[in-house]
Amino acid sequence: MELHALLAASPALLITLSVILGLLVGSFLNVVVYRLPIMLQRDWKQQCYEFLEVNKKDQIETDQEKEHPVFNLQKPDSHCPNCKHKIKPWENIPVISYLALGGKCSACKTSISMRYPSVEMVAGILSGLVAYNFGYTWLTLAIMIVVWSLLALTLIDYDHQLLPDDITLPLLWLGLLVNAVDLGFGVSTVDSVIGAVAGYLSLWSFYWIFKLLTGKEGMGYGDFKLLAALGAWMGWQSLLPIIILSSLVGAVFGIVMIVFKGRDRSAPMPFGPFLAGAGLIMLIWGPQIINAYYSTLVS
Ligand SMILES: [Zn+2]
Repeated sequence: MELHALLAASPALLITLSVILGLLVGSFLNVVVYRLPIMLQRDWKQQCYEFLEVNKKDQIETDQEKEHPVFNLQKPDSHCPNCKHKIKPWENIPVISYLALGGKCSACKTSISMRYPSVEMVAGILSGLVAYNFGYTWLTLAIMIVVWSLLALTLIDYDHQLLPDDITLPLLWLGLLVNAVDLGFGVSTVDSVIGAVAGYLSLWSFYWIFKLLTGKEGMGYGDFKLLAALGAWMGWQSLLPIIILSSLVGAVFGIVMIVFKGRDRSAPMPFGPFLAGAGLIMLIWGPQIINAYYSTLVS
């Protein structure tokens, strides 16, 4: 049997391959999450220098810029931040290498963050879940791309309070496109377009009302674009559940952090991870959640 006939016939094989694909993508996401913000910051800095017409000799370079003049998703090669040992291919197998190396660099024995294998595992599990829910379809691949993007956005926002346009905007276009060509997600083009516009405008108005009343900025423009993307994917009907869900999770998380970690309650907390988390839950279990909600209303 050909591979695609085999995948269509065997959900177990499809899910297994999806988990492996997710693990590999998770490994790539670790690179994106670490490098994309640095690439953007370098780019913005260069644009500022050009705009202000600062001479090359007066531009200040960080140590990192001196060490790696070229910095993108491929270059420099992955290396241990402590001893600069170059990561060999066999040390780069998702999760397995981490376990085989006992969580330490093979050269200098410095601990490797648990975060790397965790991100790989989460990406693997979520990809398997998407395949389980949506089967052997193009929609599965499209939803996996959303899930991977949301994972990257969550981590970048957590680290830098930043939701890069390079991820939120393609996600928005892809959502409009997937629903326009009707891949079977069940959201009409009209609901998708209104979802994108309403997603952006709802948080945008909230931001300005909050700012005029308190003089503070509660969130950023990246949050508006992320909700616009989620609206494009799931239609305007999903916006209110996403906002409620993300506020709930955010409030619980915030209280836990204040009580157990003594976190300063005025310290800024990025909203993006909660928005992305709520979007993820709605994406995978949305219809079940909405059905359960309405059936409790009716009974
Ligand atoms: Zn090392």
